[in-house]
Amino acid sequence: MYQGVSSVSLPGVRIVRGACAAARVLPLPRPLVRIRHYVDASADERFPCVSALRLERVSKHWGATKAVDEASFATPSGALVVLLGPSGCGKSTTLRMIAGLDAPSAGRILIDERDVTRAAPAERRISMVFQSYALFPHLSVADNILFGVKVRRDPAADHARRLDRVATLLGLGALLDRKPAQLSGGQQQRVALGRAIIAETKVCLMDEPLSNLDAQLRQEMRREIRALQQQLGMTMVYVTHDQTEAMSMADQVVLLRAGRIEQDAPPADLYARPATVFAARFIGTPPMNIVAAPGRADLKLGVRPEHVRVVADGGMEAVVQSAEYLGADTVVTCSTSAGGMLADTLAARLPGRFDVAEGARLRLGWAAADAHYFDHATGRRRDDVVPVPASPIDPRRPA
Ligand code: ADP
Repeated sequence: MYQGVSSVSLPGVRIVRGACAAARVLPLPRPLVRIRHYVDASADERFPCVSALRLERVSKHWGATKAVDEASFATPSGALVVLLGPSGCGKSTTLRMIAGLDAPSAGRILIDERDVTRAAPAERRISMVFQSYALFPHLSVADNILFGVKVRRDPAADHARRLDRVATLLGLGALLDRKPAQLSGGQQQRVALGRAIIAETKVCLMDEPLSNLDAQLRQEMRREIRALQQQLGMTMVYVTHDQTEAMSMADQVVLLRAGRIEQDAPPADLYARPATVFAARFIGTPPMNIVAAPGRADLKLGVRPEHVRVVADGGMEAVVQSAEYLGADTVVTCSTSAGGMLADTLAARLPGRFDVAEGARLRLGWAAADAHYFDHATGRRRDDVVPVPASPIDPRRPA
């Protein structure tokens, strides 16, 4: 019954394909993006390179609420950084401080190495796309796109050229005379995007820009935004609570939890080497299984459902609670049994269709390399642990 680890579809692999697909839509050279990690470095090592955007120990307190608590990260020019995390973790507040709409309680914000912490929004040379699009209903598409350019009194002789370029990039050429009410959701989203692009700023901020769109359109717009960002070489800060959006679009993911940065890493690293139990469970569907590590009360053992397989012997004994057939795979949720007692819940994502009745007994295993260990008390990743021999299963032994 063992299906072979090679058939597992890793989200990490899909990201690469997604990025290539996006690049194919608009086949221009991808800017060279090098991501540096700052999370565990000392203060002096933290900010070694010239960055398009840099936050240094930025905090925002609303009374007793620490909306953002000493957040530090840096983004190289031309990168797309996603601020990811559950509702209320401080994503929008961070973005609003970068934009200059909220003042930090402490810390510094630098754009192109210029300290803009106290600068007015208009002085920061950034553009912003809001969740609501914020289009003017009485203005045409063309006037909506040009609105900021006119307010800033950019040279009028340049307007037509810039509008034409943006309309071509976004496929809005035939819609320039329409009013927003005469557009679909996706087209309205493009107009909002056009308004940001026409500003020709180096840094573009986006606050959950796709949340008003249906699933299919979200996917299309995701690819479109990513391709445009790469084509124009923009540095983009993109806020979302949707891990799929983060995984498929980002060069760098800053995962926030209750105002603090949990992990700052490229998407593939976040999946393969989550720094904490929280990060491990935030990325991936279903989330990573976290169970008691056999024989080690000081550790928790993590294994992704897509790495769990049914094995003939060894492994963990499990009782099936439910099986959900999803087309490409089946998610089987089990209770593991420890000493005859039902203990942790363990989900397995098995390729294809896997028919199994509720209450059936299985043995579940995984390759030693797919086991993650976390400190039981702090939840932090432990890379120093030698895999506990009783738990992982040699995947070369099919059932
Ligand atoms: P997210 O964008 O991740 O959902 P926010 O940045 O909007 O989170 O909010 C972070 C925290 O700060 C929340 O607890 C929220 O209630 C609080 N908060 C945000 N804005 C204000 C405000 N203007 N006044 C008081 N508390 C606020």
